[in-house]
Amino acid sequence: MFYHTKDKVKKYNIIIIPERGSQTKKISFSSLWIKGVACFVCLISIVILTSIYVFSNQYQTLSQDSTTLKKTSEYIKNLEKENKLQEEQLQDYKVYQDSINGRIEELNELEKDIKDKLDKSDFFKDSKTLSDMTFRDTQPTMLVNMSQQQNDRLSIEVIDGKIKSLTQINIKLDQVLDKEKYIPSFIPARGRITSYFGIRSNPFNGKGEENHSGIDIANAFGTKIHATAKGKVSYAEYRRGFGNAVYLDHGNGFTSLYGHAAKLLVEPGEIVEKGQVIALMGSTGRSTGIHVHFELRKDEIPIDPIRIFE
Ligand SMILES: [Zn+2]
Repeated sequence: MFYHTKDKVKKYNIIIIPERGSQTKKISFSSLWIKGVACFVCLISIVILTSIYVFSNQYQTLSQDSTTLKKTSEYIKNLEKENKLQEEQLQDYKVYQDSINGRIEELNELEKDIKDKLDKSDFFKDSKTLSDMTFRDTQPTMLVNMSQQQNDRLSIEVIDGKIKSLTQINIKLDQVLDKEKYIPSFIPARGRITSYFGIRSNPFNGKGEENHSGIDIANAFGTKIHATAKGKVSYAEYRRGFGNAVYLDHGNGFTSLYGHAAKLLVEPGEIVEKGQVIALMGSTGRSTGIHVHFELRKDEIPIDPIRIFE
């Protein structure tokens, strides 16, 4: 039981009364002591509560940090995934770009091939047809632009289509050019035209007129005489009137004759190319001077070569 005594210093006693026989026990506490204990308990409580508050705060911060860390790690993972995807797309694009470049190169080569053929061909030389309109100006610029800026926008199918159509044009062109080789297209020797096709006065005595079935080109002795087209040598021999003469068959009804030569350079049955030197200029046969008598025939009928070549 508790009670307190009124001394100078207040004291609180606890008296322990046993059941029987033994002496009672008294434990005294001074009020100062009790106040001290109370203060101590208060202090401990404050420390514990403060600690709990601080720790819980830290825990909260830590758990927040952990969440942020998780989110960051996920974000990085996503970034890596995206990077990988972009790398793959870049690789795909490179492959695509390479195949486009290859095709453009193919187109350029085809274009150059066609251009070269057209430039070399007599057939297209003076005519402002294919070579000027289609290829010379427009195509190269277009291809340059294509390779620099627009190629990524062009689909492979479109380019393949262009390659296919250009290839077909090229094949057609080869066929035309092959035929063109057989078409007479130029006067066969350098020199001065001394006599034209048609009615003329007799060159030997000036008396009366005769029909000149070809043209005469005069130049120095030994001047080269060229085949006016590709063809087969029908004959290469001395003929009365024509002297040393070459007769070529070009097919398609065209034949050509070169007369009065000093020397013949081809054999009968031989195939000669367009422009090939077939004889050297002379004055054999019925001739008044050094010249070549050039005759062009269509279905065996002499025609005016100058009208044909114009
Ligand atoms: Zn003549």
